[in-house]
Amino acid sequence: MNVLFASSEIYPFSKSGGLADVAHALPRALDGKAQMTVVTPLYRFTDRASLDIVPSGIAFPVAFGGKTYPVTVFESFHTGIRTLLIESMLLSDRDSLYGSYSAGYEDNDLRFAIFCHAVIELAERLAIELLHLNDWHTALAALLAQALPRRPKILFTIHNLAYQGLFPAANLQRLGIEARYFTMEGVEFYGKINLMKAGIAYADWITTVSPTYAQEIRTKTLGFGLEGFLRHHESKLSGVLNGIDVRHFNPQNDPALYALYDAENPGGKQVNKARFLQSIGLDDPLFLDRPLFIFIGRMTIYKGIDLIIEAIKTFCSWPVSFALLGEGESHYHNAFVELAHEHPNIHLQIGYDESLSHRMYAAADFLVMPSLFEACGLNQMIAMRYGTVPIVHKTGGLADSVYDMSRFEEESSCGHGFCFERSETPYLLEAMHRALTLYHDRKLLEATRVSNMRCDVSFAKSAQTYLELYTKLVGQAA
Ligand code: ADP
Repeated sequence: MNVLFASSEIYPFSKSGGLADVAHALPRALDGKAQMTVVTPLYRFTDRASLDIVPSGIAFPVAFGGKTYPVTVFESFHTGIRTLLIESMLLSDRDSLYGSYSAGYEDNDLRFAIFCHAVIELAERLAIELLHLNDWHTALAALLAQALPRRPKILFTIHNLAYQGLFPAANLQRLGIEARYFTMEGVEFYGKINLMKAGIAYADWITTVSPTYAQEIRTKTLGFGLEGFLRHHESKLSGVLNGIDVRHFNPQNDPALYALYDAENPGGKQVNKARFLQSIGLDDPLFLDRPLFIFIGRMTIYKGIDLIIEAIKTFCSWPVSFALLGEGESHYHNAFVELAHEHPNIHLQIGYDESLSHRMYAAADFLVMPSLFEACGLNQMIAMRYGTVPIVHKTGGLADSVYDMSRFEEESSCGHGFCFERSETPYLLEAMHRALTLYHDRKLLEATRVSNMRCDVSFAKSAQTYLELYTKLVGQAA
């Protein structure tokens, strides 16, 4: 089966979050079972030399909205499978993927329309049978495919419904979207263009990245205005829990770590903690005895940052240390800078740093993840892989992948942490306090770590489900 997997970000070519990890891991897990080609934009900041990116010999123009945009296709086998990288000036020549946290690039609709047209052109040239699209940046391709004489089957995966690709109706013209699609059944959304709707309306099947999130997006609370539309299409909607690339996130051979370890020889974890604490200036032996909590992620309202800010004053008065790595909205940066200034046991690193994140997962005792909602979430799985116990709000994929410690049975179970039911500060604090108590029960803490490290958080199971979906869709009559 000839599959083209399209994503606006794929690790290690570009990454802003979990989408890049999934777009890296899932096609690799499927390779060999289906013929996988992945396609992504080639951004200016992508390091061509170290990622073996070379010209593919393919170039073509894409024409829409009365204009023509030249496209050059590069390729790389760096990740073990064929990655096609689309270069086109408007799409590629930027400092970052999408613009700043406060405002995306004004022409993101046009940029990703160029990408979608290029994806469609490649789907035709490569005789693609199944096109797997991800999030709003690729969703327009589902609409464009309607016009193809040999239309491939289309699977559309929603990774985050909060970002829908909303643009003024006046942009229809520059996007070359025919007026007949600007209806309630199509891409119209309260007078604007909603590109996510194109994926939902015109795909043959829709997945989202956890079974619980597949339920939640059909409710008013987490449907972000699309709950009715999703209910309308629910006969072609299912939830498939993500996994992580256990080769990339592997404390047994991770080059970023100070010391290697695994479930059989977990001793290296303590070395990582000591060296990390030293690196951030908390080298008093006192800190080594105390639990280290971490937060890693985008500093946006959805990640529950307000809860952390509210809780911090209380829990930083406990004998703990807390390290945060992330970037996001500037008012959160400012709040954390102030808090780190007031509390010597808080360490703050603003920015994006892949290696540092690995060292933090390895060093930490607990990961704090109070997301208001979470389609799947990967941090909790990465944390478990590194023997770090997650503390999570029971929502979406967090509810599907972390079982509360109250259900811990050493021999038979895996994937444990502390789950709290309501996204309110006292609930978070209570969960953190339970973590503090576990920290002093060394035997149970060690058993939890080891059991979490043995837990299967790989993509194997989900890849099998995707393969079944691909097979079913391709087997269906046109
Ligand atoms: P998101 O909603 O951002 O996609 P996920 O939990 O699905 O959240 O995935 C987040 C991924 O991005 C994980 O691999 C996490 O380690 C990584 N990550 C997030 N922020 C940073 C950062 N500032 N530096 C390094 N890695 C980060």
